[in-house]
Amino acid sequence: MFEDDRDPLAPHVLLTPGPTPLHPAARQAMLRGMLGHMDPEVFAVNGEIQRDLRVMYGTAPDTFTALLAGTGSLGMEAGFANLVEPGDEVLVCVNGSFGARMAEMAARYGARVRQVTAPLGQPIDPAAVAEALEGAALVAVVHGETSTGVLNPVPEIAALTRASGALLAVDAVTTAGMEPFGMEDWGIDYVYTGAQKCLSAPPGVAPVAISERALARHGARRTPTPLWYCDFEGLRDYWERRSYHHTVPVNLHFALHAALRAALEEGLPTRQARVQALGRAVLAALGPLGFRPFVADPAARLPTVLALRLPEGLDDAGLRRALREREISVTGGLGPTAGLIWRLGLMGEAARPAPYRALMSALEDLLGERGLVDRFEAALEAVPA
Ligand code: PLP
Repeated sequence: MFEDDRDPLAPHVLLTPGPTPLHPAARQAMLRGMLGHMDPEVFAVNGEIQRDLRVMYGTAPDTFTALLAGTGSLGMEAGFANLVEPGDEVLVCVNGSFGARMAEMAARYGARVRQVTAPLGQPIDPAAVAEALEGAALVAVVHGETSTGVLNPVPEIAALTRASGALLAVDAVTTAGMEPFGMEDWGIDYVYTGAQKCLSAPPGVAPVAISERALARHGARRTPTPLWYCDFEGLRDYWERRSYHHTVPVNLHFALHAALRAALEEGLPTRQARVQALGRAVLAALGPLGFRPFVADPAARLPTVLALRLPEGLDDAGLRRALREREISVTGGLGPTAGLIWRLGLMGEAARPAPYRALMSALEDLLGERGLVDRFEAALEAVPA
């Protein structure tokens, strides 16, 4: 499973919940010479990206897919900009910072926002969504809430939303490409991610997929899309009709193309298996020190962002600073969880033994905790091939 475990001498060990270490194929693709954004070779690459994104998101055969020229937040914003008109009711699931960001964006585009909330560290309850659905034109939910390490029950929320007639927008920033995702089977109308997360490409493009229903809703708008740059029709001009809209970041397309291909060639089952195996090994190594999963319900734990409650008395900032001095980046909590948790990234190329081996070895040294590395190695070896 880990035969791809390479680059142990990489100068920096990036264990953050994004960006993730570059995939070697993405790094190589970045070296390709510049081509024009209207060049036939670029359109050919774009076509392959569109095809591979359909596989990654599990879309219907002809679903429109594209890259937006921006990070994951642009993916989020483009959904609201195109699918919300002033006065529309939008139901947003909020159980962390990124759900809250969705609610703020929807409001800025004139939506009357209602929220379904859950306490930090807990998933959204589909029954609460069912109760609040009436009148909503659009429902929005984050699949993997990076700020707390929670996996929200998107398939259940999608079934309810589809039955109500509302559209569903899903943030798949920490899941797509690493965890199962079924746009068509689950019934999702708009989905986005960021290149720098599970795909391990450089930040700067946001892969999106837009359902026929969402395109039809957009086509029936009473008002023009207020965000010209990402107007769905403008995107289709370039990606489908091959006419100029704006100058796309060609080199980032090359890198994303290579990383996405590599991910599909590796296969989702293998990618999922290495996330699970590493997550278990990290817990086995750090558990005896007093690190505990922040998310109580194992079924609600986001495999790709391991949120760990810190042991009593651990100097969070001091320890992370000491790790940074050894070229190891670890991220703490966000907002209310600052000082309370670490969020260890297990997305894309971060989910490899080598970078975590480096972390365990540094912690063994810094904390004077003998046996940490051995526990990590033993847990990894216990993984069935
Ligand atoms: N949504 C989620 C779940 C995220 O984790 C992030 C970034 O961490 C974003 C959206 C925003 O993405 P970006 O920082 O690429 O704009």
